[in-house]
Amino acid sequence: MADKPCLLVTGGGRGIGASVARLAANRGYAVAINYSRSAAEAEALAKEIQAAGGRAVALPGDVADATQVEALFDGAESVLGPVRYLVNNAGLTGRASRLDEAETATMERVVAVNVMGVINCACSFVRRASTRHGGAGGAIVNISSSAATLGSPNEYTWYAATKGAVDSFTQGLAKELGDDGIRVNAVAPGLTDTEIHERESGVIGRVAKIAPMIPLARPGSPDEIAEPVLWLLSDAASYVTGAILRVAGGR
Ligand code: NAP
Repeated sequence: MADKPCLLVTGGGRGIGASVARLAANRGYAVAINYSRSAAEAEALAKEIQAAGGRAVALPGDVADATQVEALFDGAESVLGPVRYLVNNAGLTGRASRLDEAETATMERVVAVNVMGVINCACSFVRRASTRHGGAGGAIVNISSSAATLGSPNEYTWYAATKGAVDSFTQGLAKELGDDGIRVNAVAPGLTDTEIHERESGVIGRVAKIAPMIPLARPGSPDEIAEPVLWLLSDAASYVTGAILRVAGGR
């Protein structure tokens, strides 16, 4: 079992991240499940994977904090071996509102987690996994959003802007790491049925309200986002780098 390659999923305790962690374990990865607030969920998922014969560990860490991110990678490596794959999934919107009604502290936190979180984790990953630094190479998938192009007016324009930043970072880093043995791609989900809409954004009934506007006429499930993430990580996508794969039911 020691030969399973290690994947670190940020914010892997619930939502899309948990689906990615679960599917990855089914596909033979050893999975490091990061959490910031959802310790119980992350621990339960790690136990579920172990009970099914997989390798997993739940690890705390606020991705916005570079020091905590380094400790997170150290922790993953000490339990599961070198981290070869990274899914930058952790993200939040803040309470939905018009820009002129939003709190600065909320927007600063969203930018810190969604932008610096992705950059911090990618940086720690590259320093370890790049063939330039003696690593074995690997792949990164960043979770962007269809909001990057839709703009999220009247809800969270600042969140949409962070996802635009994720797309730019994905394209630049893919080019930078072309010769480092690391592919970098993004998945941009559309409306996906998770807690982000009500618990995080505070918009009651958002999923049901938006679903009719989607060409496929329904929200996606977290498992439907996890599938393309796992494809981009896999050798089946060996010539794909710098891609932003929209998984949004046609929206
Ligand atoms: P979710 O259910 O609200 O989950 C968010 C995840 O992010 C949680 O696991 C949370 O972990 C983690 N997280 C938040 N702040 C963190 C921090 N500072 N450090 C580490 N982890 C942190 O939302 P989701 O829908 O699964 O969202 C996952 C990703 O998909 C996000 O990047 C989101 O922007 C993106 N996305 C979602 C949708 C959608 O419709 N659902 C659409 C497009 C893109 P804790 O609970 O442990 O803090």
